[in-house]
Amino acid sequence: MRNAQVCALCGRETDILIEGLCPDCYRKTHPLVRVKRDFVGIVRCPSCGAMLYRGRWVRDPRVIEKLILESLEYMGRVTNTSIETLSLRPGLNTAVVRVRGSVHDLISDYDEEVQVKVRYSEELCPRCRDMVNERERAVVQVRSVIPMSGQLKKLIIDMVRKETIRMRGVASLRLRMWVRASILSYQTRAWRGP
Ligand SMILES: [Zn+2]
Ligand SMILES: [Zn+2]
Repeated sequence: MRNAQVCALCGRETDILIEGLCPDCYRKTHPLVRVKRDFVGIVRCPSCGAMLYRGRWVRDPRVIEKLILESLEYMGRVTNTSIETLSLRPGLNTAVVRVRGSVHDLISDYDEEVQVKVRYSEELCPRCRDMVNERERAVVQVRSVIPMSGQLKKLIIDMVRKETIRMRGVASLRLRMWVRASILSYQTRAWRGP
């Protein structure tokens, strides 16, 4: 047997010894990639699909990949990265990233997988919030041929309120009312969002 070297960790004989370890044990004790953050925050506008990137809303689908990859730190030479699994449900998700490269010159390239926690949430971007506010402002006017009693007004107000709330996804509602003789005017202002 020529020049038999033994790995200090697993005890196997090895041709390549790096800091006393065989390549397998060296890899196990020296990860190629590390996650720098507890989680990656992804905020997406449900209306236009824009995403928050470094404090700005951008319309670029690559932002998700950028944010995830920016959370990684490489401890060796990396030749390729790919996001293997990622689901974006509101709340905490786990993305699996595959990184190809090597942590040491004496070890040829291999794949290593790392899990990144991704916190996903939806929020209207300022542009869409303004548009929704404008679009959904409406005036409802109810005219009566007879003078309206307090009870009738209450009934109409309830009806309008119920109809407005039935509109899909409306989270907030503001009503303004004018009563002039037999005319009951309503301004409804509703918007989607948090
Ligand atoms: Zn070993
Ligand atoms: Zn938007």
